[in-house]
Amino acid sequence: AKNNGRKCLHFFHSTMENYSIQRIEMERQLRHALDNHEFRLFYQPQFNLETGAIDGAEALIRWQHPQKGLIAPDEFIPMAEDTGMIVPIGEWVLKQAWAECQNWHRAGHALRVGVNLSAHQFNHAQLTDLASMVLSDTIIDASFLELELTESLVMRQAEDTLTALNALKKSGIRLAIDDFGTGYSSLSYLKQFPIDRLKIDRSFVGDLANNPNDAAIVVAIIAMAHCMGLEVIAEGVETEEQLKFLRMHDCNQVQGYLTGKPLPANEFLALLSAKPEP
Ligand code: C2E
Ligand code: CA
Ligand code: CA
Ligand code: CA
Repeated sequence: AKNNGRKCLHFFHSTMENYSIQRIEMERQLRHALDNHEFRLFYQPQFNLETGAIDGAEALIRWQHPQKGLIAPDEFIPMAEDTGMIVPIGEWVLKQAWAECQNWHRAGHALRVGVNLSAHQFNHAQLTDLASMVLSDTIIDASFLELELTESLVMRQAEDTLTALNALKKSGIRLAIDDFGTGYSSLSYLKQFPIDRLKIDRSFVGDLANNPNDAAIVVAIIAMAHCMGLEVIAEGVETEEQLKFLRMHDCNQVQGYLTGKPLPANEFLALLSAKPEP
């Protein structure tokens, strides 16, 4: 048994070592990617059910790797968070997305851009400074920028979270809760935060037509949000049936493959500029 214990200990040490070597290597690669402009933002349309127009787009990062091709965010954002590289990468995302939003406005398309923020970035003291820097000397109103925060980030204890959210809100930026319903929000708690919109997680939307529990949850989220004066957007909308259900229950916007996949910036702008079918 003693021998076994030692083996385990040895194993533990060597995997920890590997882990930190991997981490340093990953950090180096992410830094290199940022310096070499290998990150790209794709934009996914958000479709307003009342007006029938695209009224926003979510910016979604990809890594255009010279050897491996296009890498999805789930494959590198967790590492970017672990290594702290999410702070400079997130800064790039915010600046890039806001610059692109100004392009749309210049081309005559007044829509919002949504930017994902991870908890680590949020803790970083400079976020409000960064936001005011990004917003200074721009031609468009801060309300065209929407930051997407997760429930767990917002709900975490804390007075300073509320202070930071209020500061962002005061600058005119919109705030949305991402993946709503998957975290642990207390609804009464939610009321204290200066939130503008809930994004219903796609796990409730996928089986909406067949699963009465999911349907009930979605209806309840929409009703509750509207009672609190919030807008609601449903994510992951893939079928006409889901769209019809959401429209019937007064969901404000939808985002999903049905109304448009995430597109590179130039293709998204082309989509906006295309004349609607007569
Ligand atoms: P998310 O914020 O929940 O983004 C929505 C994800 O759902 C995107 O995946 C999008 O491509 C995908 N999606 C959209 N419509 C549909 C649909 O109809 N069906 C299905 N099955 N999926 C759909 P993506 O682009 O791979 O991003 C994954 C996650 O990576 C995002 O989830 C977000 O948490 C994170 N992420 C992306 N960009 C950034 C970023 O710039 N910063 C940070 N911190 N996180 C990011
Ligand atoms: Ca999001
Ligand atoms: Ca989401
Ligand atoms: Ca998600």
